[in-house]
Amino acid sequence: MRIIMMGPQGSGKGTQAKRLSQKLGVPHISTGDLLRAELAAGSDLGKAVASIIEAGRLVPDEIILYMTGRRLSQPDCAPGFIADGFPRNLRQLLELPAVWRADHAIQLWIDTQTSIDRLATRINCPGCKAIYGPKTPPAKPGVCDKCGAALTKRADDSASAAVIQRLELYWTEMPPVLEYFRSGGVLTTMNGDQPIETIAAAIERLVARPK
Ligand code: AMP
Repeated sequence: MRIIMMGPQGSGKGTQAKRLSQKLGVPHISTGDLLRAELAAGSDLGKAVASIIEAGRLVPDEIILYMTGRRLSQPDCAPGFIADGFPRNLRQLLELPAVWRADHAIQLWIDTQTSIDRLATRINCPGCKAIYGPKTPPAKPGVCDKCGAALTKRADDSASAAVIQRLELYWTEMPPVLEYFRSGGVLTTMNGDQPIETIAAAIERLVARPK
């Protein structure tokens, strides 16, 4: 099953994508996580994109298309995947055949103030990529419940200019992508300002429904 998770920053799409990936047994592919792994490894690609990510701008499409094309061609993606963070604009959609025939494209909708508030308070695990917030704190402050790594705050969540830039990009670049999935009859928009469990249950019902 191919599922595209979409939503403005802080909407909870990463959290839901991880859960759904475990539930369905298909990989969760986050372009943000792939890029942050390159940054952490200090690779040439990581060095090339560091300042772009920090400023909240979009990494050039060529890099994203190369990276996602390479990842999606791996055998574990044959039964499907959960896409988190791509396509981010019309060109990425048009050049990624793997996402054209998505079974579901799910947008978690939250308003801009909620995005800003959530990004200001979320902390991440650099190891297993778990995400924590005020409503979902780790049992021991600063330590990941799942893998024990020290939690960190993303640099692009800390700078308000980068946060505003990312949100603006979401709302300007995504309408044609959303329209593509809407006209294909696979788009579902859900209220992202609900408890994690409520949204997870709604997503599970949606993907279990016969087409
Ligand atoms: P995310 O973890 O999805 O919030 O992504 C973090 C940052 O990585 C974004 O602000 C962009 O700089 C970059 N990025 C992630 N996915 C993409 C993409 N599909 N296209 C361009 N840039 C991306």
